[in-house]
Amino acid sequence: MKAVEVIDKLKCRFPNEPEYIQAVEEVLSTIEDVYNEHPEFERYNLIERLCIPDRVFTFRVSWVDDKGNVQNNMGYRVQHNNAIGPYKGGIRFHSSVNLSILKFLAFEQTFKNSLTTLAMGGGKGGSDFSPRGKSDMEVMRFCQAFITELWRHIGPDTDVPAGDIGVGGREVGYMYGMYKKMAREFTGTFTGKGLDFGGSLVRPEATGYGNVYFLLNMLATKGIDIKDKKVAISGSGNVATYTAKKLLELGAKVVSMSDSNGSIYVPEGINQEQLDYIFKLKNIYRGRIKEFAEEYDCQYFEGERPWQHAVCDIAMPSATQNELDGDDARALLANGCFAVSEGANMPSTPEAIKEFLTAKILYAPGKAANAGGVSVSGLEMAQNSQKLNWSAEEVDAKLKGIMAEIHKQCTIYGTEEDGFINYVKGANVAGFMKVARAMMAQGII
Ligand code: NDP
Repeated sequence: MKAVEVIDKLKCRFPNEPEYIQAVEEVLSTIEDVYNEHPEFERYNLIERLCIPDRVFTFRVSWVDDKGNVQNNMGYRVQHNNAIGPYKGGIRFHSSVNLSILKFLAFEQTFKNSLTTLAMGGGKGGSDFSPRGKSDMEVMRFCQAFITELWRHIGPDTDVPAGDIGVGGREVGYMYGMYKKMAREFTGTFTGKGLDFGGSLVRPEATGYGNVYFLLNMLATKGIDIKDKKVAISGSGNVATYTAKKLLELGAKVVSMSDSNGSIYVPEGINQEQLDYIFKLKNIYRGRIKEFAEEYDCQYFEGERPWQHAVCDIAMPSATQNELDGDDARALLANGCFAVSEGANMPSTPEAIKEFLTAKILYAPGKAANAGGVSVSGLEMAQNSQKLNWSAEEVDAKLKGIMAEIHKQCTIYGTEEDGFINYVKGANVAGFMKVARAMMAQGII
């Protein structure tokens, strides 16, 4: 079946899954050339098999809130593809979670994990439960109820979940505790665990740091120094805060951050004390970014994203999918933005991506730029298997090496005749080829 026929069929089969279809279309539109060079792929109907998840678990999660009321949420795990390693991908807790979003994330994860050079397949899971406004006890009871159902489908060599939006160290700890009790074994079934029970140094920092390392590789192709560059970041969670931390360390200026209620703009760049404040605000007090604007008297845009307001050289969207649209892209370009490196998964809409590619700026899609998180998760799995802990320097050096290798793969498959590096094409083709070869070798299963 041709790629375009696969998309048409998926649209008929899954008409209510727009994010999933968007992700599939984006990948298939860039791999068509290499796909056509391999007629055996078509004979094996490889594309369709690669687009449809191996299996999806859907379940009810019932738990009791602090007032004694019984609450019901939906739980999911999408095991997308394990051709090159056990299913691997985060768990998202957010009110917007549905099957379309998790299927797009699991699909993307398959290509991202392939790019990391490590042996990990793709998966993703989550729930429409939102930890925001819940007490610690409520979050714990929910995590335990969620895992009571999921535990039988995961394992260190089967499927290894981790964090994502709404799932940080606290949630992973509660889920891992319950998993361990149900499975009656202590294995590396989750990554992002606490350091005292098998977690890896640098895992919390890895996605943000990795994105900055990827950015440095891109800037190097143009001989540009990061120092004093103005960077607009969206989000103020795990990925955003560690991206900001590394940028400050390197002398760049972080001019904006945001949450789902609005964004702040600090034209001169936030300082270390202000970043520490944001970290505490978000992780300890679980407050809103608006409180930063009140504390430091800076501009705050209620209900708005940074892109139309923050004048910047570089944009690093690090909140959620489809958070940067065509108008935002045009505003960024008009303000002189010359690089976009995605911390979030699929934050730019297809229209925005088109703008960036037409303008031929440095544009790195999330599956390449944010692969540092899952890469260090892979390193956590390796440490757990060996029952060893590596030093922060060792893990950070490996992370830098992996990001450089991902960048290299993108340039191999994405460099065009005029020298422009199409990172979208490069990442998709490199990620696809490894999985495709493995699937061909393993037969039709
Ligand atoms: P967190 O939950 O730690 O932070 C998410 C941030 O994004 C918060 O500031 C949140 O605001 C904001 N946000 C969430 N949803 C929306 C929305 N609908 N509109 C506007 N803002 C929103 O998540 P992470 O930092 O872990 O994840 C951020 C992105 O990075 C996601 O796309 C995730 O898939 C991706 N990613 C994460 C990895 C990881 O290792 N954690 C690895 C690779 C990718 P609020 O506080 O108001 O909810």
